[in-house]
Amino acid sequence: MYSAIQSKFAEAVANGKLIFTDSVEKRVKQNGLSLVYTVAPSLGQKPSAPKPEAQGTPESRSPWLPGDPDLIVETLADYKIVLNKFAVAKYHFLLVTKQFEPQTSLLSPQDLKTSLDVLKRVNKESGDRYIGFFNCGSAAGASVEHKHLQFVKLPDNYYPFPDSTPMPSSDSNIATRTDKRVPFAHYLIDLEPESDEDELAMKYSELLGHSLTLLGRHHLPINYNLVFTEEWMLMTPRKLSELQADPKLGVNSLGTVGLFLAKSEKQLEQLELRGMNLLTELGFEREDPLQRGVENSVDPLGYTHY
Ligand code: AMP
Repeated sequence: MYSAIQSKFAEAVANGKLIFTDSVEKRVKQNGLSLVYTVAPSLGQKPSAPKPEAQGTPESRSPWLPGDPDLIVETLADYKIVLNKFAVAKYHFLLVTKQFEPQTSLLSPQDLKTSLDVLKRVNKESGDRYIGFFNCGSAAGASVEHKHLQFVKLPDNYYPFPDSTPMPSSDSNIATRTDKRVPFAHYLIDLEPESDEDELAMKYSELLGHSLTLLGRHHLPINYNLVFTEEWMLMTPRKLSELQADPKLGVNSLGTVGLFLAKSEKQLEQLELRGMNLLTELGFEREDPLQRGVENSVDPLGYTHY
């Protein structure tokens, strides 16, 4: 798979089917967290045109039905692996469902297992470490309505915060964790090396339960970012895709693990001012689930229920 990604990528760039934008990387530490800003000023040179009124059905608008054969890396029984047509990261690829499914539908046990398998394959074949992500809903940064999960290589020697989130205290029976260094509401769960479909689905449902509870309290529809590695899965509920500042400041799932895209120096400056705090505005402030549990229900054994 990885060699097909590499060769398809080179061919698609050469024949103009894939638009690759060069960028420079800026690494900073903010409040003890490592962040990477990918700066691609050529993306910001053209003012973005107002979006035309959507025509037809979501299915008829899908870029992957049937999809450009020059961008298709591999076809599986129920999915296709395709290259991102507008790549800032080299070898950015996607797993899309063969049949149309809405991006806001739940991830099925099969979606989860296939995504993890794809991630493991690309890691093994490339010797690099990739992350997978899913932007569920337009407020989470999704721009395409057809169900798609995405994969990019992590920057070299970059360790997203969930790699070092402290383990909960030993008397806790709560699988979902949060990280006190992170200011926005998020839910983190560890993955076993050989999880089957049911196990992955149960863990995903647990994260989703927390996210929907928070969104429901604010009377908001389903919008969240999901990021996963071989070791963990992180979910961040979202209420807004971007901040209406000048310039607008938006992030997708990658922002939740400290990877930001700046399309101009001005945007970089504004993003840097906020860092991870941007996600408290595009999502919610972190509330410690254990703390909330203590307030809400304490059982005689001292376990908190959340
Ligand atoms: P999102 O914006 O999170 O919904 O992700 C959609 C992804 O699909 C982005 O990475 C886009 O660059 C990519 N994309 C959009 N149109 C196409 C296309 N025609 N072929 C392949 N990838 C596309």
